[in-house]
Amino acid sequence: MGPPGVGKGTQAERLGNYFSIIHLSSGAILRNEISKRTELGIKAKQFMDVGKLVPDDLLLNMMENRLVQKDCTKGYILDGFPRTIRQAEGLEQILINQDQELRGAINLFADEDALIQRLILRGQSSRRRSDDTPDVIKNRQRVYWQQTAPLLDFYRSRKQLLKVNGLGSIEIITQRIIDVLNE
Ligand code: AMP
Repeated sequence: MGPPGVGKGTQAERLGNYFSIIHLSSGAILRNEISKRTELGIKAKQFMDVGKLVPDDLLLNMMENRLVQKDCTKGYILDGFPRTIRQAEGLEQILINQDQELRGAINLFADEDALIQRLILRGQSSRRRSDDTPDVIKNRQRVYWQQTAPLLDFYRSRKQLLKVNGLGSIEIITQRIIDVLNE
């Protein structure tokens, strides 16, 4: 978990490699649905284009279908999901059904201005995404603080929140995450 631009995607991919488990990004799954022009992709695009969250029902359905697949039995790292309390509750239920347990919710935190700068730079690079424009970035930040930040309390109250400083080199941040997971 963490605000847009904090490096969730980069770190989730590295952790997936380190632990030899699959890395699942809800945003990447949605972008794939959009490129295939599926019904889900067409519905999701309207929300993603303006930086809003895709409705919970669509997301939960999509993630549940993904998490019951065979390659998830060994474990997985989630990136970008859950993003609302309702999604977190849905994930709890999926885990119960699959007889799995949450190891922890990693909260990458960083100064907001530094993150906006990072996203604007990504918007000018080859990794550019159509939602990396200044207006949409601002909206995604706002949505994070309004709808996703309450999840920090959700996981804190369950003693599952692992806080990690998200500023520093990519390698150092990966090591910090591995360290809190091993504590
Ligand atoms: P991301 O790649 O995680 O930054 O997600 C890009 C966009 O996909 C977000 O701005 C949302 O519109 C949508 N999205 C990704 N994950 C979720 C989620 N868990 N719930 C709702 N919308 C999501």
